[in-house]
Amino acid sequence: MREFAPEPLSGRSGAALAAAASGASVAALGGLVVAGWLTVAVALIQVLPGFPPMQYNTALGFMICGAALLSAALDLKRPTALLGGLSGTIGLATLAQHLFHADLGIDQLLVETYIWTGVPDPGRMGPNSALCLTLIGAGLITLAWRKAGSRSHVCPALLGAIVIALGTAALVGYAAGLPGAYGWSNHNPMAVHTAIGFTLLGGGIAGLAWNSAYLETGEAPPWLPVLAAAVVLTVTLCLWSALRTGGGEIALHGAMAAGEATLPKITLATGVLTAILLAWSIREGQISRRRALSLETANRALNDEIQSRIEMEEGIQQLAAIVESTDDAVLTTTLDGTIATWNPGAERLYGYTRSEALGKPVSILHGHRHDGADLFRRIANDERVTRLETLNVTKDGRRIDVSLTVSPIKDPTGTVVSASTIARDITDRKLLDRMKDDFVGTVSHELRTPLTAIRGFIELVADGEAGLVTETQREFLQIAARNSDKLGVLINDLIDMNLIESRRLDIRRGPLDLTEVLSDVVSTFRTMAQSKGLTFREDVQRLPRIYGDGRRLVQVFSNLVSNAIKYTPRGEVGIRAALSGSGVEVTVHDSGIGLTPEEQAQLFTRFFRGRSPVVTEAGGTGLGLVIAKAIIERHEGTIRVESQVGKGTRFLVILPASPSTSPA
Ligand code: ADP
Repeated sequence: MREFAPEPLSGRSGAALAAAASGASVAALGGLVVAGWLTVAVALIQVLPGFPPMQYNTALGFMICGAALLSAALDLKRPTALLGGLSGTIGLATLAQHLFHADLGIDQLLVETYIWTGVPDPGRMGPNSALCLTLIGAGLITLAWRKAGSRSHVCPALLGAIVIALGTAALVGYAAGLPGAYGWSNHNPMAVHTAIGFTLLGGGIAGLAWNSAYLETGEAPPWLPVLAAAVVLTVTLCLWSALRTGGGEIALHGAMAAGEATLPKITLATGVLTAILLAWSIREGQISRRRALSLETANRALNDEIQSRIEMEEGIQQLAAIVESTDDAVLTTTLDGTIATWNPGAERLYGYTRSEALGKPVSILHGHRHDGADLFRRIANDERVTRLETLNVTKDGRRIDVSLTVSPIKDPTGTVVSASTIARDITDRKLLDRMKDDFVGTVSHELRTPLTAIRGFIELVADGEAGLVTETQREFLQIAARNSDKLGVLINDLIDMNLIESRRLDIRRGPLDLTEVLSDVVSTFRTMAQSKGLTFREDVQRLPRIYGDGRRLVQVFSNLVSNAIKYTPRGEVGIRAALSGSGVEVTVHDSGIGLTPEEQAQLFTRFFRGRSPVVTEAGGTGLGLVIAKAIIERHEGTIRVESQVGKGTRFLVILPASPSTSPA
């Protein structure tokens, strides 16, 4: 259901425009008649000579009610209620005068009447007009104060409808020559233009109430049958009463002499029957329309459902085609490891046909006996395992390297019920990797031996062991020595990288005094830093013994300190070590070139080197930090960087003081 929100006139349907037009024309009609009374223009007061006049107070009421209806159409609540209240009060006071045969002095308060109609209360509007004015006043007040919800619109709509009926009955009375329909008992009758004015006012109020109810629900309001019945019943009652009191042309003609007594009864019965039938047929119409609407909605929902199922089915078929045609093995297993589905890729990879594999334990594929249990435990915990490299066995006993992606499959309640596995054959890649590792390993070792000899002989020659050496020759020999040192570092880094990638990096951990390791590093690099003109700061507190590999940790901190010196053109470098929680934190800092955030993100990847000219000039392999990280992680520690371009860099290494694993 739509929220009730009064819209401005421009955003409304024609009902508001029609109400505004009715309000304006009734106000104008009232104004004309008031002017007629004031200027003694009888033609404005009486439509035709001899016709009942519109009383002054009625005309005044029209001006007020017309303005109120206009305000209601413009959604001006307060003026609507105020003007409605004023007109209702005039109507109610006049009605009270009729009921209690009293004279409150309001009939000729503003204008003394000069049109005599032979009634006992000259200048007073008739009781039917007073009733209409009262109902219109009440209708306007309820229209202004109604709340959201179609039920609250019924009140103004009903009041408006009754006024329409009273006005219509009067007009029918004029048309059929039935004075009792527009003049009640011996009081002033309702003038013909008064009847038109009230019909317009009633229509405007009912139309606005209807419009609001329609805007909220998008359909005709449920109280429509009541409204229709009320109109028919009111008209019927007016006509019945008019016929009963007699008079009029029908009675005068005497044509109905015999039926005089029965005509009112027939009118009443027909009217009541019409009201009942009308209400019933409108109600039935509404019910069947609502049924048709809900049927249409259900139909649309069903069509949407069918469409989405078709799309889902197409998606499933596409997926099935992918699964059938892929080279990867795709299989599903229950959580206890029984194979449930098996694609042609799995047939090709493992050699088992679908019928051979289905229902078998997946362990027939495992190269290691302990493979499955832990994996299925993780899957049952809704974990996805990606790129797990392991050994599998084919039907003919061949061992193959596979990369597995295992994902949990859930039922509609979200419970993990089975697992899907995609297995990719990586035997060839693994073989190539192993060959590359072996090649790099062998070449590196083969290079290291002659390099050691070259370095030794350069030193011998430089020391004059092979004869006198001139200054220029010594200089050249030093360049050769420096370059063979660089080559040595490169070869060592390559060997270490190779060991890391093949998971064969040798770390020999034991109880270790980290202070000693750090002073070793400091003594090696202090002079280097100072000869470059850098200040070297050292702040190493007493540290607990850690469990580590001294040689490898010297390698790590040497790399960090030498980088700090290399990449700091001026300023200072330093090393600091202190207790940090249950571990030791070693910080190597510098005031050098620094690193951009992008460089920091790539810092620990193989062969990464910064773009600064300082880096290019310094030379290096781009492997030192990767090796350092691997060594620290093998010590169950962490390494991270903080840096700012142009300000400096700080590497923070944390090593546990009492590692969780103890020596075997
Ligand atoms: P290498 O120093 O041999 O190039 P590393 O792995 O030790 O290799 O360092 C990789 C890159 O990280 C360096 O080339 C340099 O760009 C950057 N880097 C390392 N340490 C620092 C530092 N203290 N200040 C600025 N940049 C650094």
